Amino acid sequence: MKLSRTPNCFFAIVLFSAASLATAQEQSGSAKPVSKREVDHPPPMRIPNIGLVIHGGAGTIERSKMTPEREREYRAGLERALAAGYEILKKGGSSLDATEAAVRVLEDDPHFNAGRGSVFTSAGTNEMDAAIMDGHTLNAGAVASLKHIKNPISLARLVMDKSGHVMMDGEGAEAFARENGIELVDQKYFFTQERWEALQKIKAAEKHRTGAAGKKIRITDQDRHGTVGAVALDKNGNLAAATSTGGTTNKRPGRVGDSPVIGAGTYASNATCAVSATGDGEYFIRATVGHDVSALMEYRGMSLEEAAQTVLDKVAKLGGAGGLIAIDHRGNITLPFNTSGMYRGYVDPNGKLVVEIYR
Ligand code: ASP
Repeated sequence: MKLSRTPNCFFAIVLFSAASLATAQEQSGSAKPVSKREVDHPPPMRIPNIGLVIHGGAGTIERSKMTPEREREYRAGLERALAAGYEILKKGGSSLDATEAAVRVLEDDPHFNAGRGSVFTSAGTNEMDAAIMDGHTLNAGAVASLKHIKNPISLARLVMDKSGHVMMDGEGAEAFARENGIELVDQKYFFTQERWEALQKIKAAEKHRTGAAGKKIRITDQDRHGTVGAVALDKNGNLAAATSTGGTTNKRPGRVGDSPVIGAGTYASNATCAVSATGDGEYFIRATVGHDVSALMEYRGMSLEEAAQTVLDKVAKLGGAGGLIAIDHRGNITLPFNTSGMYRGYVDPNGKLVVEIYR
């Protein structure tokens, strides 16, 4: 079954560009007759294009378990994130700024497992990871095990822009944030009742599994994890990817997932594509998801959609569940996942913000 989705935006834009080119030639008086074959098969050309795709985590998202009000809230959050990123791209801003802005909106929204809505570790603390990558320069910034950073994605950006390093973690990363005026908050800021209850549920389920308690408890992916991410293409043809997460509920303190691992949960290269992943991080690290999608395109000549699906199948074969979003240097997009749902959205070729949750 095809799990991904690629709108025909590239083809629409090629046709649009071919028409504009013809009009421009007519206006400059340099029009030469265009053969029927050329019209049907316009020659390849560099297309000024922008594109944005976001996700808010993949997992067991069942329609029957979702109230209309909750669904509205999720959709509104995704739309706000798309709008924030798209506004920047429309004004000619960079894909880096657009992905950072979109991810910040989702980090501030308690529905998503990143920033404010981060899940709890087994110790009842919150530890966040994030990364951002510039497809033009292959510069990247990543942060892990943060406890007091309101918007981890902006610290990842700062690490990329100013630290001279690619990855920083824990106290050292937070000290660097403080030195550079990044907002730090008390751990209380990350407390949400829902995430706290998910931790209690998982702890109770674990007790049952080890024979220490009586009742069997059903745990869903919703209780366990989530992540937010964005990928974008700007008008200069530059790609970027950004990912931010609270990780997995009940993880050991110090556990780091795939999101901040460049080449796993986050990757961007102008030569191929930008990728942000979500799912069981351990599997996504082992499958080097982001770089693998890019490598299949670069070295095997696969399309974006084929490469993304191939890599997700590899994750599934290892036993991992999740999904990814990706955009290529032409503006094609794909959003495959192997779970029952993935919070996701993209801007369609007409500039319409599209948000989807279920399969
Ligand atoms: N990939 C994240 C992690 O393992 C969790 C998720 O995306 O659901 O930390």
